[in-house]
Amino acid sequence: MSSPSSGFVVEPAKNVAVHGEYDVVVIGGGPSGIAAAASAARNGARTLLIESYGFLGGMGTAGGVTNLAGLYGIRNGVMQQLVHGVVDELMERIEWLGGLNQPQDGMQGRIRVRSYDISAYKCAADALLLEHGVELLFHAQARAVSLADGRMDSLLVETKSGRKAIRARAFIDCTGDGDVAAQAGVPFEVGDGQGSGLFPTTMFRVGNVDAASALAAIGDFKAINDYMRQAQERHPGRYVFPRDGAIVRPQLNPTEWRVNVTQIKNAQGKAMNGVDAVELSQGEIEGRRQIASYFEFLRAEVPGFANSYIIEIAPQVGIRETRRICGLYQLSRDDIENSARFEDTVGINAWPMEMHQDGRVDWVFPKSAQRAYNDLPWRMLVPLGISNLLVAGRCASATHEGQSAARASGGCFVMGQAAGTAAAMFKDTPFAEISVPALQQRLIADGAYIER
Ligand SMILES: Cc1cc2nc3c(=O)[nH]c(=O)nc-3n(C[C@H](O)[C@H](O)[C@H](O)COP(=O)(O)OP(=O)(O)OC[C@H]3O[C@@H](n4cnc5c(N)ncnc54)[C@H](O)[C@@H]3O)c2cc1C
Repeated sequence: MSSPSSGFVVEPAKNVAVHGEYDVVVIGGGPSGIAAAASAARNGARTLLIESYGFLGGMGTAGGVTNLAGLYGIRNGVMQQLVHGVVDELMERIEWLGGLNQPQDGMQGRIRVRSYDISAYKCAADALLLEHGVELLFHAQARAVSLADGRMDSLLVETKSGRKAIRARAFIDCTGDGDVAAQAGVPFEVGDGQGSGLFPTTMFRVGNVDAASALAAIGDFKAINDYMRQAQERHPGRYVFPRDGAIVRPQLNPTEWRVNVTQIKNAQGKAMNGVDAVELSQGEIEGRRQIASYFEFLRAEVPGFANSYIIEIAPQVGIRETRRICGLYQLSRDDIENSARFEDTVGINAWPMEMHQDGRVDWVFPKSAQRAYNDLPWRMLVPLGISNLLVAGRCASATHEGQSAARASGGCFVMGQAAGTAAAMFKDTPFAEISVPALQQRLIADGAYIER
């Protein structure tokens, strides 16, 4: 019951059917969740992955990212792949489906990325997890938890067949937003701590591009920015761009290009809050409005795009940063800039800081040209307060600036693999007390790269 003026309704208590009991439950099927679930299952855990969409990939598919970053970095002056493990298995399967592009360099040779086709990624991720024996529960949203003695006892999920309870020995929050950790009472930070954060972007792809003309005009990473500037000078007032510069890059088939240019603000002009239902709703509409406007510029002003069309606007606005949980260690700007090394490393982050600020993107690279990457420590996956919960991916423990680097897919695969492997290996030990050397040994045996 509730009084009409209280603003609250009391939800009646009810018994919830138990869907199942597992060793490990992974919530969220983005890069970190895929790696976590595959690793837990291959290490013998009965594993369930819960995902609110009907497919895997997270921002990589639902957010239309279509591009793997952070796998390659400069070591001893040479660009090379430094993130290995589950991601190799995934890339093999995407490649087998004809959906993986060759590595592409950018930013004066300081970054190397690989684009992919979304449908191939979805199929490859299904196959990978099923081969490892992971059970998948799609169209299910984690909404609440039940706790006992500083542990998570069960998770409550909303499904088309009603609310279900799921029990497990260990849980891994890979929701990107720290949804489960927040429900469990783990402390967290949001964005930059001043009401803003990394600005979101709705991604889109265009097709039927004249590949030769487009490559000649904007094949270079930064050339699109000159076209934007020149168009504004030629036609004052006609084009209003959401931010300075854009990323417009060819996919495997160069008649198809992905466009990363929109920037979604809230009514206060701050970064849209990706865990606010009303802002999210308004942001979806604003993203599509900006896309329609930018597409007009592409067709009119950029060689090769005159006859192009919009193949797809991503199913959801792409969220870079929301909650970052507080864990045993917070990865920081200093760690990225100074190529930090950690005793408890579980792998490499090879992506620079990529700060999506109001109207622009700021890049900050490591100072070292020899070791232009940093270790990711185990402690950033271990949240304060709940002994059988791990948090991996973009909601792991980092500062606003540290997260702007570690959030790239490369780092998320690393964190997920470490979390899934540990959850399978350490059955009765609180995660804050596990043997990290034993975990490192297992990760290496499973193909991950850890620099000693
Ligand atoms: C616009 C944009 C461009 C980017 N460009 C690149 C790029 O070029 N290269 C690159 O490598 N990275 C890029 N990134 C970053 C990268 O894609 C993400 O940071 C990365 O996907 C994060 O992985 P994750 O597993 O932590 O979370 P996510 O990818 O966000 O996945 C989380 C998953 O959890 C699910 N989920 C969330 N809440 C719940 C819940 N309560 N219950 C059940 N399921 C839930 C979601 O549906 C989603 O599938 C970009 C990001 C954005 C937004």
